[in-house]
Amino acid sequence: MRDFEFQRPGSVAEAVALLMRAPESKLLAGGQSLLPVMKLNLAAPSHVISISGLKELKGIRKQGNQLVIGAAVTHAEVAAAEEVKSTVPALAELAKLIGDPQVRNRGTLGGSVAHNDPAADYPAALLALGATVVTDRREIAADSFFNGMFETALGRDELVVAVKFPLVERAHYVKFPHPASKYAIVGVMVARTAAGVRVAVTGAAPSVFRHAAAEAALAGGFATRALDGLSTDQDGLLSDLHASAEYRAHLVGVLTRRAVSALA
Ligand SMILES: Cc1cc2nc3c(=O)[nH]c(=O)nc-3n(C[C@H](O)[C@H](O)[C@H](O)COP(=O)(O)OP(=O)(O)OC[C@H]3O[C@@H](n4cnc5c(N)ncnc54)[C@H](O)[C@@H]3O)c2cc1C
Repeated sequence: MRDFEFQRPGSVAEAVALLMRAPESKLLAGGQSLLPVMKLNLAAPSHVISISGLKELKGIRKQGNQLVIGAAVTHAEVAAAEEVKSTVPALAELAKLIGDPQVRNRGTLGGSVAHNDPAADYPAALLALGATVVTDRREIAADSFFNGMFETALGRDELVVAVKFPLVERAHYVKFPHPASKYAIVGVMVARTAAGVRVAVTGAAPSVFRHAAAEAALAGGFATRALDGLSTDQDGLLSDLHASAEYRAHLVGVLTRRAVSALA
């Protein structure tokens, strides 16, 4: 691992200024993705800017018809929070399924969203619930945020401050986890939002995506029979040592059906 300078800014503004000053710097939140990447020499930042202690990035609060969760809120905090369980229960359930206790106690919502691992769970929730990512300079709808494998709409020196979730009670997430890491081989969230039914799939492709055919099939209501005859195109799906594209396509169908049956 290359030597780096460790920095602990006192505010979001200071963190962003440090990011801008050093073009090879990286933010550090829970470190559950960045540190493994650095250990493998896949990233070698000159400066590591720790943001996990910033109060501005903490807190979970209801704001009108939205739930606002700070970027540095850990997965364990989301899973346990009464504000989440009572307003967007599917989100608390999803957070409970992430990794193991160590990962949940260190890993953060902002880190997961910014990293956009193809097998991460939160991207499915953001996309299915129609969430909005709040950064230090703008708001980005989830539909425009996840651009590709480990790619997002964030600028290099942009910091995720919070995520705003609409209060959606009719939502359910099901995943087929990798037996060791618990990352999603495939994960599906189905939700009924003010804008209609949304189905988001993670793990199956290079980046999370909405399943338009399933959304259309479920527009009339949550009944598994509405999914009869629906198949998932395996073109563009991931194929690796964990699962073939064909198997992942099959899992998308099975998990969508399970999520719908939990909502029926
Ligand atoms: C063994 C293991 C199992 C795991 N299992 C799962 C799983 O089942 N499901 C799952 O979804 N994830 C899983 N993870 C990943 C975990 O959820 C990570 O916590 C998460 O992906 C990254 O969050 P972090 O806070 O640790 O971010 P970090 O590792 O600190 O940062 C990750 C990246 O995001 C950037 N970043 C961090 N915070 C911000 C911010 N606020 N604004 C802009 N950029 C930021 C960093 O610069 C870095 O590039 C697992 C990880 C491990 C090690």
